[in-house]
Amino acid sequence: MMRSSFLYLSAAGWARRLVTGLGVAHRTARRFVAGEELQEAVEAARALNEKGIMVSLDHLGENVFSLEDSKRATGEYIELLQTIHEHILDANISVKLTQLGLNISEDLALENMRSILDKANEIGTSVTIDMEASQYVDATLRIFRQLNDTYDNVGTVIQAYLYRSESDMHQLGAEGATVRLCKGAYKEPPDIAFPEKADVDANFIKLMQLYLSEKYRDAGAYLKVATHDPHMIESTERFVKDNNVPMSAFEFQMLYGIRAATQEDLVARGYKMRVYVPYGAEWYPYFMRRLAERPANVWFILRSFFSR
Ligand SMILES: Cc1cc2nc3c(=O)[nH]c(=O)nc-3n(C[C@H](O)[C@H](O)[C@H](O)COP(=O)(O)OP(=O)(O)OC[C@H]3O[C@@H](n4cnc5c(N)ncnc54)[C@H](O)[C@@H]3O)c2cc1C
Repeated sequence: MMRSSFLYLSAAGWARRLVTGLGVAHRTARRFVAGEELQEAVEAARALNEKGIMVSLDHLGENVFSLEDSKRATGEYIELLQTIHEHILDANISVKLTQLGLNISEDLALENMRSILDKANEIGTSVTIDMEASQYVDATLRIFRQLNDTYDNVGTVIQAYLYRSESDMHQLGAEGATVRLCKGAYKEPPDIAFPEKADVDANFIKLMQLYLSEKYRDAGAYLKVATHDPHMIESTERFVKDNNVPMSAFEFQMLYGIRAATQEDLVARGYKMRVYVPYGAEWYPYFMRRLAERPANVWFILRSFFSR
């Protein structure tokens, strides 16, 4: 109920105007967002790198509806890549196709992605295409496949809450693709996504095991296990030990500001760990999705509001 309400509010213009006008929301969003400026993201990335944690930088933004805005977002990502290079950060980037013009046309999003991937190639890093709401999954996978045919530095995301994901994972595994597996952060109806958390969790474990199987590892598949859930992490650790999965086949990923101690602990135990670091002025929908994931975050905001 709470999750649905926050996911509804994440897309509502009136709620966006209301929340972004509140100082307490800005302050609380800082727990999940490195800052509004690129320099703040660089500092957050450097601090994580110093702890042995790799980074994926996300210049926040989604659902762009003009050619000009899509080109601006593309240019900002190219600038971000140049900054990663100049600051010698151990970082790649994550992008959303609706930020690059997917709502205007697939060709536009594809063209913008090519410019970003060319720059990423030039500086020797990679790009993950985030997965957005279910109406974009087919187009995202089509664009990913076209890019994956010519670039070896592109990956995408699969959401364990979708029924279709098992079949998508089999296909991507056979193609030797780089995939980030997450539970899924959008509001989806029960005819396409598991409504119960227990089923999403069980599917996450099933998909992790499927993708780390010898058959798909031999095809070149690489898995980014993106979760803060101790049960998902333990299941992955157990599976890789029992099946001698090499460290080169996978990494753990978490979001900036969530379970920092576990991030460091995984690094101390020899695992590859990457933290997704978002920054920029367009923090509202990202922030609302983080609130939707954990009702306790909302009490944290209310407490800060009333204790001013
Ligand atoms: C690196 C990364 C990239 C992602 N990319 C995408 C994407 O492209 N598309 C997409 O749909 N989703 C994406 N997600 C979000 C993901 O789908 C989940 O919504 C999110 O990770 C919460 O699921 P969980 O696996 O942590 O498990 P949950 O069962 O939701 O949480 C497990 C525990 O983790 C902690 N936790 C989880 N979320 C929060 C939070 N917001 N605040 C505080 N504590 C929290 C809590 O202790 C909670 O009990 C991404 C997540 C990560 C880590």
